[in-house]
Amino acid sequence: MAVPYADLHLQYQTIKPEIDAAVAAVIRDSAFIRGPYVDAFERAFADAVDVRHCVSCANGTDALYIAMKALGIKPGDEVITTAHSWISTSAMITHAGASVVFCDTDAATFTIDPAAIEGAITARTVGIIPVHLYGQPADMAAIMAIARKHGLWVIEDCAQAHLARYRGQQVGTFGEAATYSFYPGKNLGAMGDAGAIVTNRADLAERMAMLARHGGLTKHQHQIEGINSRLDGLQAAILSAKLTHLSRWTEARQAAAAVYDAGLNQIEDVIVPQVGADRTHVYHLYTIQHPRRDQLAAYLSANGVQTAINYPVALPFLEAYRRFNHRAEHFPNARRHQDRILSLPIFAEITPQQQQTVVDLIRAFG
Ligand SMILES: *Cc1c(COP(=O)(O)O)cnc(C)c1O
Repeated sequence: MAVPYADLHLQYQTIKPEIDAAVAAVIRDSAFIRGPYVDAFERAFADAVDVRHCVSCANGTDALYIAMKALGIKPGDEVITTAHSWISTSAMITHAGASVVFCDTDAATFTIDPAAIEGAITARTVGIIPVHLYGQPADMAAIMAIARKHGLWVIEDCAQAHLARYRGQQVGTFGEAATYSFYPGKNLGAMGDAGAIVTNRADLAERMAMLARHGGLTKHQHQIEGINSRLDGLQAAILSAKLTHLSRWTEARQAAAAVYDAGLNQIEDVIVPQVGADRTHVYHLYTIQHPRRDQLAAYLSANGVQTAINYPVALPFLEAYRRFNHRAEHFPNARRHQDRILSLPIFAEITPQQQQTVVDLIRAFG
């Protein structure tokens, strides 16, 4: 493969001594569940994203569930989210006991369209979950204004947007709470599953921690019914080691995105990622649009370049949501993007030569 979609082993090689030492320390101390390595990561991650509290958990999907449960969601409630995301965002609304209400995306940024949110609000609406898709912040000023006007909570799904900023402020600091995934391929990735919820509210942080740990923070004192969703010590130690490199890796992704922008934006059929005003994109993914997307993907693959489609079917049109009978015309942007999006290889260690290969191939394809 001339240009892989991502290269996790290469990243490991660049920091191997730190990762190996972190893993050895946890094994030496038998600090597998909770303990000092988990506490240290929670503190470090809260500091990194400018929030008071970080509650770690098993993955980014559980993080969404725990955040909603902590906010007291109940049957009959409606939660508004975007038509364009990974299924965790909407599936956890259902599992938390509420009903999913999808909104279309903005044509340029792939994030939830604030204009569509107002029209989706009913007397039952309790909250909004914007997703900072691909690493680009949603339009948080508009979303927070709507939330305030209607008395709704906001949970930011930051699974793809570690360290992204909106008007200079970190994502994850706008709503009541925000959720993160540390799935291996995310901008900050563990070597297994991992996740976290952040919040500035001490009451929420405590409730979320209880929910993630069998409903209590002291052994055998179960104040509520919780679940078992813990970050383990090995992943915490690995994440702490990697967190010290996250700013540098983020800058490398942004530099790689700029190289693609320069190489691709003159090609007639290609639309490069559009970044909204005052938003700092962290390029978890670099997703272009092309009218002959499937042919382009096959052509790149045949020439040794791996790509991905995130995601091939927009949420309202998935089999899982057949019960809603959603039609294409209700979500025109998400529907249009679904057939045109293509994510190109991007990772901190991608080389200029690899990027040139990708650009040259796309230019030759036209
Ligand atoms: C990755 C992801 C999640 C889920 O995270 P996991 O750690 O895989 O459970 C949720 N939302 C979005 C937008 C994601 O990209």
